Amino acid sequence: MGRLRAAMDVVQADLDRSVVDAPRLQMLVIERDESWAGIDDDHFTAYVAGPNGAYWASGSSLWGPTADAALYSVAEGAQDYLAEVERTVWPICPRHAHGVHVRPPGTAPDWIYEGGEIPSAPVWWCRGSGGHDLAVIGELDAPRSSRSRTPVKPRRS
Ligand SMILES: [Zn+2]
Repeated sequence: MGRLRAAMDVVQADLDRSVVDAPRLQMLVIERDESWAGIDDDHFTAYVAGPNGAYWASGSSLWGPTADAALYSVAEGAQDYLAEVERTVWPICPRHAHGVHVRPPGTAPDWIYEGGEIPSAPVWWCRGSGGHDLAVIGELDAPRSSRSRTPVKPRRS
């Protein structure tokens, strides 16, 4: 669970840098398997939730066997929350104005996650111009217009 909390901080930092008045996301533990208490704290169901505890119940439970997998899971959970609860697409590629996806770095456009280990720190990936890595998760740049303090309007899904 510590890995997931660390990943929450990384994804929140990307959100704070790229969205004005970004919501403070939290990890909400819905259910914990008490038979594992004190043995292994990885037996629980948790989601990314908003400041008031709202979350999207149809998403995948957060899962963090490694730091990279935790980042992958939390980044997708944050996107699910923002898309399904706040109706906001985030993040947006500034070059192509597309919503982006969570992937390992350097994937081909037709790449599909088929389970298993996340080989390295995941990135925000944009399908524009044949596909490109926008940024390593945790290193998303502030939008270029941030100096004017104009929020980047998220595209409605
Ligand atoms: Zn792009």
